[in-house]
Amino acid sequence: MLTKERKEKVVAALQKAIQARSYSGEEKEVVGYLEKLLKDIGYDTVHIDRYGNIIGCIKGKKNGLKVLMDGHMDTVPVQEEKWKENAFGGEIKDGKIYGRGTSDMKGALISMALAGAYFAEDTKKDFSGEIYVAGIVHEECFEGVAAREVSEYVKPDIVIIGEASELNLKIGQRGRAEIVVETFGKPAHSANPEKGINAVYKMMKLIEKIKALPMTHQDKLGYGILELTDIKSLPYPGASVVPDYCRATYDRRLLVGETME
Ligand SMILES: [Zn+2]
Repeated sequence: MLTKERKEKVVAALQKAIQARSYSGEEKEVVGYLEKLLKDIGYDTVHIDRYGNIIGCIKGKKNGLKVLMDGHMDTVPVQEEKWKENAFGGEIKDGKIYGRGTSDMKGALISMALAGAYFAEDTKKDFSGEIYVAGIVHEECFEGVAAREVSEYVKPDIVIIGEASELNLKIGQRGRAEIVVETFGKPAHSANPEKGINAVYKMMKLIEKIKALPMTHQDKLGYGILELTDIKSLPYPGASVVPDYCRATYDRRLLVGETME
């Protein structure tokens, strides 16, 4: 149960986590803080893996499922001149905590860590299964890479991710693929374009065709979008040359049951 005293402890722990700046790849300080915190609040074991992820575990008295509560520790950088508050202060104003990573996602990570500990305390560990809480490194730039290492270590039956969802329960997420499309032409001087094949013109036709493809749809996950995110031609800059190469990148969001093909 979340008593007043416990709530204050969650807030204080979050403030400290915010004060430990943790840009992607620079999570050491916050990991050090979490290591101490997890041990203090009663986690049986605290493991730091080769990537720097931190994993706390509390075992119930009976065997059962492994529940992993997962949250990344890193944040995107701050443009301090755009902040009215101290981005690493963790100060409270009008009932809100201010600081980089408060909602994305140290708030959730600290809440989950303490929720696990309080549950163990209330039940005196008389429950089935194992509770894991994991702080993940380098999520903002390489989503999923470090988390896979944690999955490998824990082998969880259930995973709860604490990313902000306006307190709505989100039960799934689309997968992601980056698709690169290339066209090849034949270079020529642009004064005599008929002697070459313009790779960009080929790409333009392809883009139109791709855009006309029907989007896949799934009730809960929505559309399996395929969106053009960048396009590049070579040589670049191509002054007076018919480009013989063009490359377009697509962001594809995958739905349940889709195959590689
Ligand atoms: Zn996030």
